[in-house]
Amino acid sequence: MKIGVYGGTFNPPHLGHLTAARAVFELLKLDKLLLVPAGLPPHKELPAGSPTAEQRLEMTRLAGEQIGLGDQVEVLDLELRRQGKSYTSDTLAQIKALYPEAELWLLMGTDMFLTLQTWHAPEEIFALAGIAAFGRTEADTEELFSVQREYLYRTYPNARIFTLTIPGVVDVSSTELREQLAADRGANLLPPAVYGYILREGLYHSNADLKHLSLSKLRPVALSYLKHKRIPHVLGTEQEAIRLAERYGADVGKARVGALLHDCTKKLDLAEQLALCERYGIPLDDMERKTLKLLHAKTGAAIARDVFGVDDEIYGAILWHTTGRAGMTLLEKILYLADYIEPSRDFPGVDKLRAVCYKDLDAGLLMGLEMTIGEMNALGSPVHRATIEARDALKG
Ligand code: FE
Ligand code: FE
Repeated sequence: MKIGVYGGTFNPPHLGHLTAARAVFELLKLDKLLLVPAGLPPHKELPAGSPTAEQRLEMTRLAGEQIGLGDQVEVLDLELRRQGKSYTSDTLAQIKALYPEAELWLLMGTDMFLTLQTWHAPEEIFALAGIAAFGRTEADTEELFSVQREYLYRTYPNARIFTLTIPGVVDVSSTELREQLAADRGANLLPPAVYGYILREGLYHSNADLKHLSLSKLRPVALSYLKHKRIPHVLGTEQEAIRLAERYGADVGKARVGALLHDCTKKLDLAEQLALCERYGIPLDDMERKTLKLLHAKTGAAIARDVFGVDDEIYGAILWHTTGRAGMTLLEKILYLADYIEPSRDFPGVDKLRAVCYKDLDAGLLMGLEMTIGEMNALGSPVHRATIEARDALKG
């Protein structure tokens, strides 16, 4: 097994890191890529607006998912957890202990490669891993790299070095990027979910007013709450909500906001859901207390209102998007159905349901509710009373 190890402060992780990581992964035919956010010296004063170790870890996780290699990319917090000075040679030794059979490759950009001999214990580094150094231009890799490569080979006979040019690599300096973020720019250099996380946490003096976000900022913020695999669903729900809102004359902007935020707490587990219910004083019945799917609608609505300042209409649409209820508002119906029929949904009967929704909204709603009740009955799962009431109200 070949494993790439890519360390860095990832402050923040940006598209430059991701394109390089992806290119090296393919060129070296790696089986796994480990991203390792570096610990910062414990006594170093960090400038205001700097992320905590936990925040850099979360940003690196979000960025790692964006590489699109699924489980082949993993983020390790071993340097963040280490006490005292943190050395690459220690990190490689720890990884080698985790994967004794693996062939390790240490990924690095030009600057790092050119100073490698000044690092702590370079001979140990070479003994544990090959070096995969990437430059952005032919000039980087050939003129600069060849001199250094020959020097390293002479000095460390056990070194294995692979240098490569990655022409498409995005040219980003983290320092400049942080300055851009403070000036409300830089979104184009970041994976959307990472940009959203920065806005949400107020990092790097980004100073976004979460209660008055434009859609172009709310969207990445919403994505930062999601598991990667749920992103297509939420973006699909936004698209479907636009179409339904236009078809039935609802407020398109509100439909979009509701759609973007409707699953914002979906990835939380039962304990986290219940803690949020406690915090927001959300009353729960016995069935709700045990059902993750029912809880996320309630906690999602609470977060949407508390953090993002949505109005009562949007709040209600998120609150009822899973169960429905008797006497739903237009916006509630639209979000309920957009969530149900968005383009990435695929279940028997979805095409028929889509067609009915665009012919007659209430007929579509009734059909959706009956499908849910049928499915729950088939599974032997209890149906929430709000769903039964919603169906009965429509049947008259
Ligand atoms: Fe949901
Ligand atoms: Fe959903």
